[in-house]
Amino acid sequence: MRKLSIGVRLALWYVVIFAVGELIFGASMWLILRHNLYDVVDDALESQVEDLKNFLGAKQGDASIATLHEQLAQSYGTQHAGDFLEVCKENGAVVYRSKFLDSHEAILLPLDQVRRPLFRAITVDGRHFRFVFEKLSVDGYLYTVQMGADADDEVETLQLFRSYLLVFAPLLLLVSAGVGYWMSRKALAPVDVLVRTARDIGGTNLNRRLQTLKTGDELQRLTDTLNEMLDRIESAFQKITQFTADASHELRTPVSLIRTEAELALRRSRTEAEYKESLRQILQEAERTTLLIEQLLELARADSGRASLTMQPVDLPEVLRSVVSSWQQVAAARNLQFSADIRESGCSVMGDPTLLWRLADILLDNAFKYTPSPGSVRLVLEVREETAVITVQDSGMGISPEEQEKIFERFYRVDKARSRGQGGVGLGLAIAEWIVLQHRGAISVESRPGEGATFGVKLPLVGVDVQCPLVSM
Ligand code: ADP
Repeated sequence: MRKLSIGVRLALWYVVIFAVGELIFGASMWLILRHNLYDVVDDALESQVEDLKNFLGAKQGDASIATLHEQLAQSYGTQHAGDFLEVCKENGAVVYRSKFLDSHEAILLPLDQVRRPLFRAITVDGRHFRFVFEKLSVDGYLYTVQMGADADDEVETLQLFRSYLLVFAPLLLLVSAGVGYWMSRKALAPVDVLVRTARDIGGTNLNRRLQTLKTGDELQRLTDTLNEMLDRIESAFQKITQFTADASHELRTPVSLIRTEAELALRRSRTEAEYKESLRQILQEAERTTLLIEQLLELARADSGRASLTMQPVDLPEVLRSVVSSWQQVAAARNLQFSADIRESGCSVMGDPTLLWRLADILLDNAFKYTPSPGSVRLVLEVREETAVITVQDSGMGISPEEQEKIFERFYRVDKARSRGQGGVGLGLAIAEWIVLQHRGAISVESRPGEGATFGVKLPLVGVDVQCPLVSM
């Protein structure tokens, strides 16, 4: 079944609450009115009973029933107060009973049950009465009295009030339902606009935003939040689009180089040395492409959150020593001075050993790539304030301050032509930054063009609780 709209549901709730309110209000007003009207009649009855008590007090208590009857009939037979009156002796013997009560015995109450004054509303033959039943003690003689009064006017007033309620309450309810629906529609009208705009936003027009409301209420908060969310989605979308475009571009270049090289080699017959050179070029480009694909896969896994990290206490000096030894030969081959200072023992960090190896490898790779011979590269590990600090320093070309902010971006290369020649595609530092963040650490760079660069990585030691990534050095 189709669910009702919020507007209709709100209006229905409004009507239900209003109806319950009306019911409670109507019923209490009716009860209060009834109580007040009967109160007036009861007060009159009370004073008439008081008069009767005085009347009986003025007579002799031991007089016979016939004498008392005579006296009561003389006095009450002609007045209004006696129309619905019965007086009995304590033993139940009737002293006086008006004609009406005589002919309607059903009204009579067994008076021996009465303990204190008892008021009753009674209807007989379509007529409404109010009766009081009471025990009277007069000069030591006990009487039981039943006295009534006409309550037709009061009941008529009550009935009139009830008919007004029955007519006006549904009318009021109808008006309130209409007003409720109109109000909820008016309040929710901006939601319809939001829904329409939101439906129109897609991959091709992610720059569109929902109309900003200046109402200062929940709807404004909702649109602001949705717009902020769209900002984030748009920027993520742009990053992905850019990443895909850059990746395709980077993949196309080596593939077309391989193709060109192969085509040139095949155009005419060549010497064995020429073929070997062509194959060497092709192999170099293929290796570069493999590296690029591996890096792309690494980042794709990182983005999807599917990169499996095996976090464990890692002996950082041991990992660094292993990386350093793998670079010793390269340093010698490139005529670069390479030194390492890894004296800290027992310096353990919580992390993934493979990724930490990769991190140090990327930093050393860059230091070697961007340091011309003769130059120097130095790796240092120290412990500062419960943090392991790895520093990779080189005496190479350095990086300008403006570039330093961008080098951690994907595919960013300071000198495009030179970097490519040296095999870099601009993904190394993006991967390094991701690894550092996975270890709740921080990475930073200090450099001046022509004066070398120093990359610093801070990693919390095992057992140190870090809620957020460490701040840069
Ligand atoms: P690449 O694979 O091109 O080296 P990276 O992401 O590792 O990509 O580095 C991004 C850019 O930062 C490099 O292209 C280079 O211009 C610059 N860079 C990185 N490390 C150094 C360094 N030690 N010295 C000078 N420039 C560097």
